[in-house]
Amino acid sequence: RTDRPLLEVRDLNGWYGESHVLHGVSLDLYEGETITLVGRNGAGKTTTLRAIMGLLSRREGTIKISGRDMIKVPVHKTAHAGIGYVPEERGIFATLSVEENLMLPPKVAEGGISVEEIYHLFPNLAERRNSPGTKLSGGEQQMLALARILRTGARIILLDEPTEGLAPVIVQRIGDVLLELKKKGMTLLLVEQNFRFARKVADRFFLMEDGHMLENFPTADLDSKMARLRQVVGV
Ligand code: ATP
Repeated sequence: RTDRPLLEVRDLNGWYGESHVLHGVSLDLYEGETITLVGRNGAGKTTTLRAIMGLLSRREGTIKISGRDMIKVPVHKTAHAGIGYVPEERGIFATLSVEENLMLPPKVAEGGISVEEIYHLFPNLAERRNSPGTKLSGGEQQMLALARILRTGARIILLDEPTEGLAPVIVQRIGDVLLELKKKGMTLLLVEQNFRFARKVADRFFLMEDGHMLENFPTADLDSKMARLRQVVGV
């Protein structure tokens, strides 16, 4: 792997109003790598993603993409650095069709992929192209949300619990799509509670507790770390 991480987060502190939620979080993500944030509910995983995207009222620390400091970059410009965020609630437009949802996102960075390529990657979205967002299953909504981010040209994608509430066969399908994106060289940062899913796609695990980053380790060490993970994450 290259020497410098594509995304570098150092000593990140984040607040919701007066409430100090992130305490000196650091992580690094190399080009083409997939990492997974794990920790119990309320540990600060979603907040870490939001802080990286500039979606907190206050954040301090260092966030660099390809060495460029992102802390002072306004939210609406974050996407221009080639980073995209798929929130847990997915954020698709329910009244618009699949195809209309795919037409909306502006291409803000180099390499945004075409609607045709999206249909190649997600054949089920092609079949549903005229269906409104409201008629999609949870899995289809998740894929559409991810597809919309791919349209923007993002090369770093932050995904918050992409498998939550989905049937095993759909979870498998999402895993396949993420592996396909990895093959294309995408860099992924997942929040995921499903370890069986995460171990298939992630290269490293990052463990959070109470707004702190405790440690990170390669997926190959997952089995030997499992007792500790269960204790910290509570699963
Ligand atoms: P979960 O799986 O429950 O989303 P998480 O690890 O993603 O867990 P966060 O959602 O980042 O945790 O929450 C971190 C802390 O911030 C929690 O104490 C939570 O109560 C608090 N928090 C989250 N959202 C807000 C908000 N909008 N306003 C105030 N506090 C918040």
